[in-house]
Amino acid sequence: MKELIIIGSGPAGLTAAIYAARAGLEPLVISGSMPGGQLMLTTEVENYPGFPEGIQGPVIIEKIRKQAEKFGAEFVDDDATSVNFSSHPFEVRIGDDSYKAKAVIIATGASTKWLGLESEQRLLGKGVSSCATCDAIFFKGMNVAVVGGGDTAVEEALFLTKHADRVTMIHRRDELRASKILQDRAFNNKKIDFKWNSLVDEVLGKKRVEGLLIKDVKTGQTSKFECQGVFIAIGQKPNTDIFKGQIELDRKGYVIVRNNTETNVKGVFVAGDVHDYRYRQAITAAGMGCQAALDAEKYLESLE
Ligand code: NAP
Repeated sequence: MKELIIIGSGPAGLTAAIYAARAGLEPLVISGSMPGGQLMLTTEVENYPGFPEGIQGPVIIEKIRKQAEKFGAEFVDDDATSVNFSSHPFEVRIGDDSYKAKAVIIATGASTKWLGLESEQRLLGKGVSSCATCDAIFFKGMNVAVVGGGDTAVEEALFLTKHADRVTMIHRRDELRASKILQDRAFNNKKIDFKWNSLVDEVLGKKRVEGLLIKDVKTGQTSKFECQGVFIAIGQKPNTDIFKGQIELDRKGYVIVRNNTETNVKGVFVAGDVHDYRYRQAITAAGMGCQAALDAEKYLESLE
């Protein structure tokens, strides 16, 4: 029986772990089979306060985790497979193993949203990717496409120019959603082209990506576009499958808060991208992790 279980180990979960551990709660962090969350897939982070020269995403994670461990947080690097919040103490399961706690913080983050095409899933890892940082190196000297018009899409495109010959951003509107500074970088990069008002209808290729079937949303006409890789960057979906039916989720599956960071279940709190689809920054996730730990501490005190 634990005082507090934290599910997730991105900046939200890890910051919650630091605060909870320093408060003497000896939290158990169920950190997932791929610990660290989305920062593990980024390279240079330029906007995390305190690092004027920039810092690598995985390095931030390593440092915050060390800090949490220093104060006594325990980690299980595995995925929580189910939860039961209908009776107290709460139960979190990892396969056959059951963990009980008086309070839980959900910090499971969000993951890639896919286009939903059969061909996209069939060619996943064979030219279709959602992580330029992970896979750009495989596309040296090739033509690649990036789908999306937000910050993530532009960052992916910029990163890809380090390896690929040409990078084409395919966007469903005629202007980018990305922040001005990133837009300027993309427009000034000679390796980046744009296909506006365009949607991907199909990823072409039998064994590997050979191109895309693109539809012009204004004319409805389709055309073939030759490329050897396509990076999908159209946003994210919250990792809340195991919480369905246990706590209140919104229409898109994000966790709803009722009282500061508390969910509709008393004693179950939430932090980071699994709740926040608006800001989605490492620093805002960390901030909410801190709030959730403080709220959980207050709740545990109230039980005594
Ligand atoms: P996003 O801002 O939601 O952008 C998603 C993009 O994909 C939009 O351009 C959208 O088009 C397009 N899109 C969505 N669904 C689509 C579909 N089914 N087919 C084709 N296109 C589709 O997501 P994001 O870029 O991942 O960014 C998420 C959040 O993280 C944002 O708040 C962003 O500022 C933040 N972020 C910040 C940084 C940074 O500061 N360095 C880096 C990465 C992310 P429309 O524009 O037409 O909606």
